[in-house]
Amino acid sequence: MSTPGIIESVAALRQATRQWRAAGESIALVPTMGALHAGHISLTQIVRAKARRVIVSIFVNPTQFAPTEDFSKYPRTFEADREKLAAAGVDAIYAPQPAEIYPPGFATTISLAGPASAGLEDRFRPTHFAGVATVVAKLHIQAMPDIAIYGEKDFQQLAVIRQMTRDLDLPIEVLGGPTIREADGLALSSRNVYLDAAQRKIAPILNVTMRDAAQRIRGGSDVAAIMTNARATITAAGFSLDYLELRGAITLGAPDVASGKPLRMLVAAKIGMTRLIDNIAV
Ligand code: AMP
Repeated sequence: MSTPGIIESVAALRQATRQWRAAGESIALVPTMGALHAGHISLTQIVRAKARRVIVSIFVNPTQFAPTEDFSKYPRTFEADREKLAAAGVDAIYAPQPAEIYPPGFATTISLAGPASAGLEDRFRPTHFAGVATVVAKLHIQAMPDIAIYGEKDFQQLAVIRQMTRDLDLPIEVLGGPTIREADGLALSSRNVYLDAAQRKIAPILNVTMRDAAQRIRGGSDVAAIMTNARATITAAGFSLDYLELRGAITLGAPDVASGKPLRMLVAAKIGMTRLIDNIAV
């Protein structure tokens, strides 16, 4: 097990990547907010097989949290993260302080449309994707990797990042990694630590309900009725439902069920104070 170097500045990141490039080595970037779990590690494994060097960034990005959200109490577990990344064989951990990413006077935000205004997460977190896209654009430009990978767990985010990277001509291949789940279907998330025992028991209902609805849709039953029933099931289990929607998997627009184009079902719901999101292919 090698110990990944810890990089804290843009200058040091550029120095490392310059050396790797000069040696003809390809580079992959795995952006995270830390509190790493098997979902994050799976992303490092996917790119490990595709690039010679793997950088994992750990940065809890303040600009993607609304003032009412959990920025200050978001789990920070750097030592445990470092051990997991050493075991995963990554080459470097890029862990800048907020002032390195947002120095005094920082005044630029990326403005988005397309998948960022699909009426899903953006409806409930109106400033979220501008914060995500701005920090991801910076990370992409700072590291300029050949490949960057993001989880399908955050499906709308993945679409926003693909669009932004393409629109800004960043020469980076954006990959999506499948969602890693607990045995009962609950998608792994750093926020699952907020769940108490009773909430943890209920949490997988999101995934179970979506799987059941997806199967019925594939079986040709009435989509509107299935979605109405699924929403009722989630609410009856004790969730406060933000949305459960069926969308086109590429555009995130209204689903064209008859066309045979790929569909995606996406959900966001609160259980107590904890907001969970998930999605599946239909
Ligand atoms: P986060 O630290 O929550 O910002 O997540 C960092 C990256 O890991 C994002 O690209 C997420 O989509 C991805 N991710 C989070 N949870 C999972 C999961 N359960 N399976 C696969 N990828 C995940």
